[in-house]
Amino acid sequence: MVRKVAILGSTGSIGANTLDVIRSNPDRFQVTALTAGKQVEKLAEQCVEFAPSIAVVTSATDASRLEKVLQNKNLKTRVLYGPEALVTAVLDSGCDTVMAAIVGAAGLMPTLAAAKAGKRVLLANKEALVMSGNLFMQAMKVGGGALLPIDSEHNAIFQCLPYQFFTGSSSSETQHDGVEELWLTASGGPFRNTPLNQLAEITPEQACAHPNWVMGRKISVDSATMMNKGLEVIEAYWLFGLPLEKIKVIIHPQSVVHSLVRYCDGSVLAQLGQPDMRTPIAYGLDWPERIVSGVAPLNLMQLANLNFSEPELSRFPCLSLAFAAAKAGGSAPAVLNAANEVAVAAFLETGLPYLHIPQVVERVLNQLPVESADSLDSILDIDAQARAVAHNCIRSIQQ
Ligand code: NAD
Ligand code: MG
Repeated sequence: MVRKVAILGSTGSIGANTLDVIRSNPDRFQVTALTAGKQVEKLAEQCVEFAPSIAVVTSATDASRLEKVLQNKNLKTRVLYGPEALVTAVLDSGCDTVMAAIVGAAGLMPTLAAAKAGKRVLLANKEALVMSGNLFMQAMKVGGGALLPIDSEHNAIFQCLPYQFFTGSSSSETQHDGVEELWLTASGGPFRNTPLNQLAEITPEQACAHPNWVMGRKISVDSATMMNKGLEVIEAYWLFGLPLEKIKVIIHPQSVVHSLVRYCDGSVLAQLGQPDMRTPIAYGLDWPERIVSGVAPLNLMQLANLNFSEPELSRFPCLSLAFAAAKAGGSAPAVLNAANEVAVAAFLETGLPYLHIPQVVERVLNQLPVESADSLDSILDIDAQARAVAHNCIRSIQQ
């Protein structure tokens, strides 16, 4: 069977890696839709190579630029633009599989649409799940499609859990098939050992230079602050349905052990591999089959050490904020996510000092009461409110 794949965010790091895995397996996949924010040239090149039936960009101007390039190449790709068109790419391109790799809240609507429509959802866009966990998991249930985590930690845990864990054929819902704890590994990012008094001067370039992974700029900053791991704790909570107390974070600087599952009999299962997103992407694309991904084999003999330690919460206040928001539940994770997106963008684009990222998130969380967040309207409303409060907060800092 040839899988028909729509890639939301095809010009980003995950999107490009997905196309690379597809390139290595040309007989197994057909690309039906590609979408990008603003990178018209890169999207045009991808369309020429993969000939999707739909391509989407954000603005009308970019759409007409893309259309001209594709017409010159005699391509029949329909070019659309705007947020609604992302949903059209999911529903009307004839795909059975959707790679959700738009960064941030912008990915929520098309990812939800894919879930409701029963597509196989390859979930990289953790922010969508953090905002709308309950709603999204319900939509997956109603749609009846498979949900494959692409985040390397969650993909590792998925690989280490028993099959019946996901099929609902588990013997008892409360016993979780003997699973005691999920251990999410974290590299600790570029500032794991930086003296605390030097953190105030951190620049965007330093924050985006991750020691092990090559990623988009937003997730790179989140990895530096460890907000990324906080979002991943919330992501794991929704994906795997275990109580929060059973989800732990462990610092593992080498990023070779991608995460672990501890069972009641003393067994601990881990998934190891190179820090290369093509492994989890390949696993999700053709699960339960395994296909080549282009990733180099892991050479255990060349690894001098695998180290593990507890995260230093004083160094990573964002991690504590995420744990607190996860515990508070309701609207708190959506508020955390929105405030963080605004603060990270301000750090990257308008010079908000690095150490103000957690301060902005904390102030926004403190200002907005925890409400229920079970409908799409309420989530979008909470997201908008949190962004407005975050912008105010940043304005007052930057005055
Ligand atoms: P990226 O910045 O490299 O790419 C983001 C993609 O989304 C691009 O194609 C961009 O054009 C598109 N986009 C951005 N804003 C948009 C908007 N408003 N409307 C439509 N499209 C928009 O990001 P990435 O590193 O590929 O990460 C993508 C997602 O995957 C994120 O949610 C991230 O947390 C998650 N993720 C990434 C990695 C990784 O290794 N890069 C690992 C785990 C999870
Ligand atoms: Mg991850």
